Amino acid sequence: MKELEDKIRSEGIVDNENVLKVGSFLNHQIDVPFIEKCGEEFYRLYKDDNVTKILTIEASGIGVAVLAALYFKVPVVFAKKSQSNNLTNDVYTEPIESFTHGTTYHCMVERRFLQPGDRVLILDDFLARGNALQGLIKMVNASGADLVGCGIVIEKAYQDGGKRIRDQGIRVESLARIKSMSPETGVIFCD
Ligand code: 5GP
Repeated sequence: MKELEDKIRSEGIVDNENVLKVGSFLNHQIDVPFIEKCGEEFYRLYKDDNVTKILTIEASGIGVAVLAALYFKVPVVFAKKSQSNNLTNDVYTEPIESFTHGTTYHCMVERRFLQPGDRVLILDDFLARGNALQGLIKMVNASGADLVGCGIVIEKAYQDGGKRIRDQGIRVESLARIKSMSPETGVIFCD
């Protein structure tokens, strides 16, 4: 998505080779009309796949998932990263190693929100090593729902997550794919 590449070039901050900060439009402040266009693009890519549910993970996936859901007209389920009184005990739970914090947390989704017969599209903000996606995929598989595919706003293609997931035969669509980045070169996109 050319507009997204331009936005990353003008507003993204390359912290180091591993972390791109896009807090001005995706991860902290949300540029709603712009992220809505990302949601519309996911709809264009997956509109013929009879999606019945969008699954994401809190917190940064929620914005794009909700804006995409306006087009798909389906509910959004977001995996929670901590136990709370609002959750029943009947949950799927998966350990996920956090890319940004380096710690492992247990993400949870109540079983009633993922059912056999659902056709699930997983959406998230970033794809790096693929741990977050892998955790969500395992929960979809455990539920008996069908996984339609994954949609990612920004994939760092030089990390191995995308390959790991695509090698399982899972469709992964990324709106921007980064070939390399550093504070000196800025962001370089895949062709
Ligand atoms: P993975 O599990 O694929 O290694 O990492 C994906 C998760 O880590 C995303 O949900 C995102 O929150 C976070 N993440 C990974 N890389 C970056 C990055 O370069 N910038 C930001 N802002 N978040 C990232």
